[in-house]
Amino acid sequence: MSSFYDNLPDFETIACHLGEDPSKQRGAVIPPIYQNSLFTFPNSEARLRRGENDELFDYTRVSNPTTEIAEVKIAAMEGGEAARCFGSGMGAISAAILSCLKAGDHVVCVTTVYGPTRQFLTSYLNRFGISTTYVDGRDPQEWENAAQANTTLFFLESPSTFLMYQQDLHAVAQIAKRLGVSTICDNSWASPYFQNPLLLGIDLVVHSATKYLGGHSDIVAGVAIGNAKRISKLVNDEGCLLGAVLDPFASWLLLRGLRTLPIRMERHQENAQMIVNRLSEHPAVERVFYPGDANDAQKELTRKQLRGTTGLLSFALKDGSREAAVKTVDGLHNFGIGCSWGGFESLALPCTVSASDIASEATGIKWIIRLHIGLENKNELWSDLCASIST
Ligand code: PLP
Repeated sequence: MSSFYDNLPDFETIACHLGEDPSKQRGAVIPPIYQNSLFTFPNSEARLRRGENDELFDYTRVSNPTTEIAEVKIAAMEGGEAARCFGSGMGAISAAILSCLKAGDHVVCVTTVYGPTRQFLTSYLNRFGISTTYVDGRDPQEWENAAQANTTLFFLESPSTFLMYQQDLHAVAQIAKRLGVSTICDNSWASPYFQNPLLLGIDLVVHSATKYLGGHSDIVAGVAIGNAKRISKLVNDEGCLLGAVLDPFASWLLLRGLRTLPIRMERHQENAQMIVNRLSEHPAVERVFYPGDANDAQKELTRKQLRGTTGLLSFALKDGSREAAVKTVDGLHNFGIGCSWGGFESLALPCTVSASDIASEATGIKWIIRLHIGLENKNELWSDLCASIST
């Protein structure tokens, strides 16, 4: 049986060309930025009948031609029917979560989820009678055990924040389908180049497009991808009513980032894998957290659901004190100290993992150093890191 995905071009061609038509833009290889809020019509009848023509636009909070190109590309990259861009990753995450809930519902979420997602679920949505149970999430059975009669959503993030733990996306999606529960997966770490949760049965994928999709640390953006029905609801309800729209200029920068996504991801992976191999042999290093690490406990799952690994990793020093983590980070010269990741540049951040209750109990590790390995020379990055760890 043929499927929606059969006729799509390869990933690299999607990144470069899908959704673009130079013949409609005077031959320009780069589409123009439609930096406008409003679109006008030749007469009232045309405005009243605008819904009958896909080529017509009305108002940028609803849709915009520049943003639409990014949406077409990202939907195809994820193997989804449709996508909706948002003004930030949290804009996409909060809208996607709200699209699956009503007052009184219950959510099951992975405990190592990105902090503000946890805050949104726990501190914000509980005002509306929504409760959340957090699970370590590495064992699919935990999701089923945590489900209640009023559970309507499983929220996954795989690999997840700081510790890069994975959930078995196919297994959890199967459980959710059997229970009639919706699933959302934050796929920011892997990017669509290395993982496609929709193809494993997840209902909605969300990204902080601020990270790898944008790739240049010059935009804040988000995107949600799914089937046409779910995305249409997201556009009309949470998208238009909450209004976290992506600005056309940011969409245009996002398009620039998408064109080089495959090539950047390959280089992030190559650089990070070399750093991980050396870190895991370093006598001062207790443990590396990275799905591509040869000793990673989830190696089998990595093979099953990831096509590659990226530039984001953490490691714990044998001296697990706050002072040792801070000293190592402050001794680096080729890494910026900062909280984001996914851009061209290498970054380091000392972090405490105590927020991720179950995970930190299980590892006994309280302080880690998170690294984003950028596109610089990998030997230079390793020399810098090695010198700082050893002093
Ligand atoms: N998801 C993950 C895994 C993140 O790391 C972040 C930001 O760091 C977000 C979502 C939120 O994205 P944004 O900052 O674009 O709102």
